[in-house]
Amino acid sequence: MFQLFLPLSFLGFVYREVKASLASIEQMLGLLKQESSVKDSGEQSLSTNKASIEFKALEFNYQSERPILKGLSFKIEAGERVAVVGSSGAGKSTLTKLLFRFYDKTGGDILIDNQSIYQYSLASLREHIGVVPQDTILFNDTLKNNILYASPDANNEEVARVIKMAQLDYFIGQCPEGLETVVGERGLKLSGGEKQRLAIARMLLKRPAIMVFDEATSSLDSRTEKNINQAIREVSEGHTSLIIAHRLSTIIDADNIVVVDDGIVVEQGKHSDLLAQKGHYYQLWQAQKDHALTDH
Ligand code: ATP
Repeated sequence: MFQLFLPLSFLGFVYREVKASLASIEQMLGLLKQESSVKDSGEQSLSTNKASIEFKALEFNYQSERPILKGLSFKIEAGERVAVVGSSGAGKSTLTKLLFRFYDKTGGDILIDNQSIYQYSLASLREHIGVVPQDTILFNDTLKNNILYASPDANNEEVARVIKMAQLDYFIGQCPEGLETVVGERGLKLSGGEKQRLAIARMLLKRPAIMVFDEATSSLDSRTEKNINQAIREVSEGHTSLIIAHRLSTIIDADNIVVVDDGIVVEQGKHSDLLAQKGHYYQLWQAQKDHALTDH
């Protein structure tokens, strides 16, 4: 009886382990499925340390009857920090999905270093772009392996350095097994702010030429928001970065602020110039100020 019990409990253990890893594989397949809609026909290999990006009369729709981007144009010079703002549903996140080639444009072009991204191989393009998405996917694995996800060869010193830069050290210190704590659906659940900081740590290990930050829409407490902004500022220093911003207070010092409305760029410039214009940006700013006042 005992002999029978042992292998059965062992089988139960194996079953749970396999099921847990299948959940991660399902998540990954979900991502791959999204990727498979684009053609990897580019033959050139992108090689750059400081890239410029140009969106040129870009058009896109998820469903043919409903255009989302309608000829959107703006440029980010190499090393610049540019923010894209606009009302909900204006097409801001869609822009980053086209840059990373989760989807392909229906018209216009996107250029990196003055060359269409469609001429670069998918792998070389994505190697140079890091994204901190609104909602980071965590695998059912340890914190350490989740951070190492895009750079599996990084050593312990490098991991410790990015954890500090992403301001995750205090959080990890509080976790029961530190870096070996299992997170994800079957492990410790992370808050929105903690997940974003983990994504920033992943980005730091990868050190891509282009950094994209898609700010979370969900509200973070003001201390977490301040920490994340500080981490983003340090991380993106000197890198070409595109910040999709929902809270205008976080991007006041951007090199350029691009205002998108209904799939096109309606204004762009520095914070103070845009406020002085008393146009779209001014209205967004006023609306957020009123909202902040009613929140307190
Ligand atoms: P928010 O500020 O709320 O994040 P956004 O400006 O980033 O909005 P997008 O996420 O780019 O807006 O979405 C633009 C439009 O495209 C929205 O109307 C949205 O409903 C639609 N959309 C986004 N993703 C898809 C999808 N996978 N399939 C169909 N429609 C989509």
